[in-house]
Amino acid sequence: MREYTPDEDRLWQRKLRAQFPIITGHPELAYLDSAATAQKPQAVLDAVQTYLTTTNANAGRGTYPWANKTTELVERARRRVKEFLGDPDAEHSSVHFTSGTTEGLRTVARDWLVPQLADGDEILVPFSDHRANLEPWQEARRLLAARGVDVHLRALPYQETSGDYDHRALAEAVGPRTRFVAATHVHHVYGGDMNVHRLRAAVGPRVPICLDAAQSVGHLPVDVGDPALDVDFVVFSGHKAMALPGTGAVWARNTRGPVLAPAGWAGTPNTVGVVSLLAALDWLDAAGVDRVARHAVRLATRLTDRLRLLDVYEILGCGASLAAGSPLAEGQRRQGIVTFRHRDIPSDDLGFILFSHGFMVRADSLCQAGADEKDGVVRVSLHVHNTEEEIDRLLAVLESLA
Ligand code: PMP
Repeated sequence: MREYTPDEDRLWQRKLRAQFPIITGHPELAYLDSAATAQKPQAVLDAVQTYLTTTNANAGRGTYPWANKTTELVERARRRVKEFLGDPDAEHSSVHFTSGTTEGLRTVARDWLVPQLADGDEILVPFSDHRANLEPWQEARRLLAARGVDVHLRALPYQETSGDYDHRALAEAVGPRTRFVAATHVHHVYGGDMNVHRLRAAVGPRVPICLDAAQSVGHLPVDVGDPALDVDFVVFSGHKAMALPGTGAVWARNTRGPVLAPAGWAGTPNTVGVVSLLAALDWLDAAGVDRVARHAVRLATRLTDRLRLLDVYEILGCGASLAAGSPLAEGQRRQGIVTFRHRDIPSDDLGFILFSHGFMVRADSLCQAGADEKDGVVRVSLHVHNTEEEIDRLLAVLESLA
């Protein structure tokens, strides 16, 4: 990717920020919760309005122009998801629209994995990531147990020092009965890239890998055409990638094992949501996802570098902040997510205090598997509309609380 001068970046960022009506309409507030759901640029709002006022009909049913156009838009969105993930011409791959990552992971578990598992099989799953990427595999195990089929869930090993997956231990954990690996691209609490580009080498060529890409698609490049990212499923939420809530997709490579075929009659798809996803992916591509990611990382680094100087704050994950010029530091590479706690102020109180200054952050246990209420943290998650000035104002408040 080409280098831009700071002035070019500032101009680019200002132009993009201006395209978020909810942001420009509330200059007194700073939205720092894009990991929960992303705000929508005008182009997405326009696409929804245009679709609903000119075309709205059911997809795959009917022969009149609005119905045909709707069907065509859904198919175009399917192709667009493939392109966006670096898989424009794959012969075998497929895209299934869902309501989000949670439903997508459940679809892979219930409709693809369960029918293939036999007594004594093992699957490797993450026990410290989002619960949406643990419960579907636990449910699969329960479903099979009820049929007398005993499947073992083993923990995907983590490195204690860096927090990403321990690829060496993983290679040792994969055995002849390992049938599946579920992993996460970017950790929603620790904010780091889990070094998933090393998974395939660790897991070997045979075992399918499913990637929870809820915190990566729409935030940083995800390229399944990269041989190092030879995963079998990419599951993501459209609403975190600037589309409407209730949208998401599963991309399936369909080369290891059967083709993913969601069971049963699917019913009417969320056509408006799919149209919004099409517009959102277009918008993100035009903005440049790699540039968006670099902006978020820059802001996250600005925040962590100064927060680290204050003893009262504990920053979770990603031991070292990204030093300028070393974006490939070993271990977790921080993306646009910074999670921390204050030594004396409970996290929900800190959330209220920050909102009294206009900052919208997430303050709770972040749906992390195994975490409970007392594990409250504050999470700041950044996107292209956020600015250095917002980070500096936030730091001033956090410093005043130290
Ligand atoms: N996985 C991760 C890593 C997430 O951050 C989230 C959302 N917080 C999910 C899964 C679930 O996504 P959704 O609620 O859109 O289904």
